[in-house]
Amino acid sequence: MDVLDLRKYIRDVPDFPEPGILFKDITPLLGDAKAFDYTIAKLVERYKDSDIDAIVPIESRGFLFGAPLARELGKAIVPVRKPGKLPAATHSVDYGLEYGTNTMEIHADGLRKGQKVLIVDDLLATGGTLAATARLVEMAGGVVSEIAVIIELTFLDGRKNLDGYDIYSMIQY
Ligand code: AMP
Repeated sequence: MDVLDLRKYIRDVPDFPEPGILFKDITPLLGDAKAFDYTIAKLVERYKDSDIDAIVPIESRGFLFGAPLARELGKAIVPVRKPGKLPAATHSVDYGLEYGTNTMEIHADGLRKGQKVLIVDDLLATGGTLAATARLVEMAGGVVSEIAVIIELTFLDGRKNLDGYDIYSMIQY
């Protein structure tokens, strides 16, 4: 596998979605078949021999990476979604954002007790979303093996909200 510099495929968009935020846009990566394939291949390489039972991708951008990875690995997908999207009984976690709060949900019967899970999202910022997702996995009876993100904003120190979890990030800023 040729090495690709994935940073070339991440676009900075200033002041989105609000003033002062430098948004890391992954659409150039998604829009380049080679770069996307390389990204998924790197994840496959890392997790192909792991003993995980399921991938838990986070709506929406986590789905883009979690689904192809799950298929390559032959693993189940158990989505974590925004409130009101999952039709059957759910567990729900509220968490604080920079401004206001957010909620995420998982199907209560999505995991069997003790199943090992890889959580997948596009980006680790403050870690609030990933910490809420880890709680949801545990409420559903699962065990978090690792958290995988494409991009980590290290200057936000999101890892401090994810104490005790193993985290893999492909690109750091
Ligand atoms: P957080 O809960 O603060 O770690 O934020 C996580 C979610 O917000 C991720 O799923 C990202 O999609 C999104 N996000 C937060 N900050 C940024 C940013 N600077 N650029 C792109 N996406 C972001």
